Amino acid sequence: MTPFWVTYLTMLAFFFGACVGSFLNVCIYRIPRDESVVAPRSHCPKCDAMIAWYDNIPFVSWLALKARCRHCGAPISPRYFLVELLTSVLFLAVWNKYGFYAEKPHYELVPIFWLVISGLILGTFVDFEHMILPDRVTIGGMIAGVALSLLVPSLQNAHSAQISFMRSLIGLAVGFGSLFAVAEVGKIIFGRKRIVLEAPVELSFSAAENDERTMKLGDEDWAWDELFPRASDKWKLECPAAKLGDRTWNNVVVELRESGLNIGGEKFPAEQLAAFTASVNAYRYPREAMGFGDVKLMGAIGAFFGWPAIFFTVLLSSILGSMVGIYLIVAKKYEWQSRIPYGPYIALACVVWILGGREWWLDYWFWLTGAR
Ligand SMILES: [Zn+2]
Repeated sequence: MTPFWVTYLTMLAFFFGACVGSFLNVCIYRIPRDESVVAPRSHCPKCDAMIAWYDNIPFVSWLALKARCRHCGAPISPRYFLVELLTSVLFLAVWNKYGFYAEKPHYELVPIFWLVISGLILGTFVDFEHMILPDRVTIGGMIAGVALSLLVPSLQNAHSAQISFMRSLIGLAVGFGSLFAVAEVGKIIFGRKRIVLEAPVELSFSAAENDERTMKLGDEDWAWDELFPRASDKWKLECPAAKLGDRTWNNVVVELRESGLNIGGEKFPAEQLAAFTASVNAYRYPREAMGFGDVKLMGAIGAFFGWPAIFFTVLLSSILGSMVGIYLIVAKKYEWQSRIPYGPYIALACVVWILGGREWWLDYWFWLTGAR
C-alpha cells in the first residue's frame, strides 16, 4: 500500500468511528426507552425540534453549538462528545493493532472488533445511566459471537470452522457459567445491605401504577422493578414517623414488597402506596452483587473470544472494581458504591483484551505448545 492509502484508511477508521459513535449515542438514549433506533429523525428531548443534519456532525456540532440546543438552549450532555471521541479512538486503535501497521495484519478481524467495541460502549453507557445491560448487546453478542466464529475461524485462532465453532460455544458456556456461579455466591454473601442514615430522609411513591411506579428516598429515585431483583425480595425501613392516608405511626418498622406494605404487622396493598409517606432513619435492602446482565455479557465475550478471554476479563475487571471500591471507602463515598454497575469494568477489561491481552495470550500459548 502506498503512504497515501495508509494515511487515507487511517483517517477513514477514525471518522468511521465518529459516525458509529454518533449512532451509538442515539441507541444509548433510545434503546432503554424502547424507542426505534432508525426512525423518527433525532429531535431535542426538551423542545422536540428536529435536529438538522448540520447540527448532527460528530464533534463539530457539539463544539459549534457550545453543548446547547440551537432552538431552546437546553444543555446537550457531554456524553455525546465523549462517546464519539471514545469510539473514534478505539476504532483507530483496532485498525493500528490488526490492520496495516500489524506485524501480521488480520484485516478480517478489524470489523469484528469494531462491532464488539460498539456493543461494549453501548452497554457501558446504558448501564451507567439505567443500571441495565440491554439484551440486544448481551444476547445479541452471544449469537453474533458464535455466528462470526463459524464464518471467521481466525477469531478463535482456529484453522477450521468446526474448531472455531466449538471454541466459541465453550467460551460462551465458561463465561456464562463462571459469572452465574459468582452471582449466586454473591447473593448469599452480599445479598442484603443495611444503610444507617445520618439524618432521617423522606420516603414517598409516585401515583403511577405497577411497574411505572417509582420510589423517592431522599434525593434518590428508584424504578419499581429496580427495587426487587427477585420476587421474594423485601425492603425493611426503620421509620421514626409514617403516614398512610389519615393514619399515622411513630417509630415503626415498615416492610416493602412487590405486593405492598407491612406497617408494624398490618398489611396494605401496593395500590395504596401513593398515599404513603414516611421519614426513614435506616433501611435494609436486597441487592444483587452482580446482575444477570453481567452474566449474559460474559457469555457474549466468551462466544467472541473463547475461554482464555474469560479468565483474563474476570481477573482484570475484579481488580479494577476492587481498586475503585477501596478508593470509595477511603474517600468515604462508600454508599455511592452500591449504585455502581459492574458491566463497565467487564467492558473495559474486554477492550484491554482486544488491544493487548489477546496477543499476549497467543504468544504465551505458542511458546507453551511450540506451534505457530
Ligand atoms: Zn431544544
